Amino acid sequence: MEDKQMLMIPGPTPVPERVLLAMAKHPIGHRSPEFSNLIAECNELLQWLHQTQSDVLTLTVSGTGAMEAGIINFLSRGDRVLVGCNGKFGERWAQVSEAFGLQVEKITAEWGKPLDTEEFKAKLEADTEKEIKAVILTHSETSTGVLNDLQTINSYVKNHGEALIIVDAVTSLGAFDLPIDEWGLDVVASGSQKGYMIPPGLGFVAVSQKAWSAYETATLPKFYLDLGKYKKANAKNSTPFTPPVNLMFGLQAALRMMKAEGLSNIFARHQRMTQATRAGVKALGLSLFAPDEAASTAVTAVVPAAVEAEKIRSVMKKQFDIEMAGGQDHLKGKIFRIGHLGFVSDRDVVTVLSALSATLTELGADNIHSSAGIEAAAKVFASA
Ligand SMILES: *Cc1c(COP(=O)(O)O)cnc(C)c1O
Repeated sequence: MEDKQMLMIPGPTPVPERVLLAMAKHPIGHRSPEFSNLIAECNELLQWLHQTQSDVLTLTVSGTGAMEAGIINFLSRGDRVLVGCNGKFGERWAQVSEAFGLQVEKITAEWGKPLDTEEFKAKLEADTEKEIKAVILTHSETSTGVLNDLQTINSYVKNHGEALIIVDAVTSLGAFDLPIDEWGLDVVASGSQKGYMIPPGLGFVAVSQKAWSAYETATLPKFYLDLGKYKKANAKNSTPFTPPVNLMFGLQAALRMMKAEGLSNIFARHQRMTQATRAGVKALGLSLFAPDEAASTAVTAVVPAAVEAEKIRSVMKKQFDIEMAGGQDHLKGKIFRIGHLGFVSDRDVVTVLSALSATLTELGADNIHSSAGIEAAAKVFASA
């Protein structure tokens, strides 16, 4: 049905009406005092959201642009880096790093499994010459629904002492507790169409003091994504280039909503939706791709047994107007993914599980106890 679309993919995510209305205004001049005030408020709220006193810079890019900025500002050609690869986005980190001539050592895990923290430990401890310049990884691996153990890996990076830790937090920022200053994360990249509840178009990079020191000696070429320009402009509540003014109206509205909800409530809501989705999917007789102890709070990847993943997605979309994501690369057709990130509530999870149960029945799956998914989710809600 037209205009009835329900987005349950891990980005773009649903956008609240308040945010849409905030964006439906005539643009204002980006060098005006009014816009400076907006930048000042957004910057303060971004620091709150990132749990940091350091700079959080806003760029007109998709998430990958924020990742690229996170590499080119702090590293130099030939630098040795460790890159965690256990899915599409970890692989992307390796590709960006290789594109800029870094000496990449991949630490891999099978897609669907978390990275082995001890492999990082071993490599970092063996590096007595302190040649490793950065450890680069994806926190929530959106392609598989795996949450990597960033905290443990980061502790080994801290023991190493020299290397920066550079993190893709595109689907964990705003969905999982990520205390940047407390953990001492150096570079954290994210994007607007994920946990921020606004449309695609903005990328964010949080930068620690240690990373700014590395910036001083980093020699990779940069211009539009030179974060020094953004830092300087930020100090004057300004931007180096013309920002997407209307998207910034939306950002302000969304950050205010997040502040009103509170960080701990936001994280608890994502946990609850994750646990309810996982319990519901299991109760419907489907398998989960990521293990319970490494479950992303942004997206749940599902392995259907008797019914084809793409058929399920097709019925969910055509009949129920619910869009779910498919598998990427070699997982295409093998899994489907339910996004529960950003402006998503318990009601959305209930709706997806109900429609999923009806879809399985329609596709002739045997032994579907149609209310089992909802019952399992209800138990999670009741105990949360
Ligand atoms: C969405 C996403 C990105 C960024 O993708 P873009 O299409 O460039 O916005 C990066 N990393 C992860 C983990 C993501 O989920």
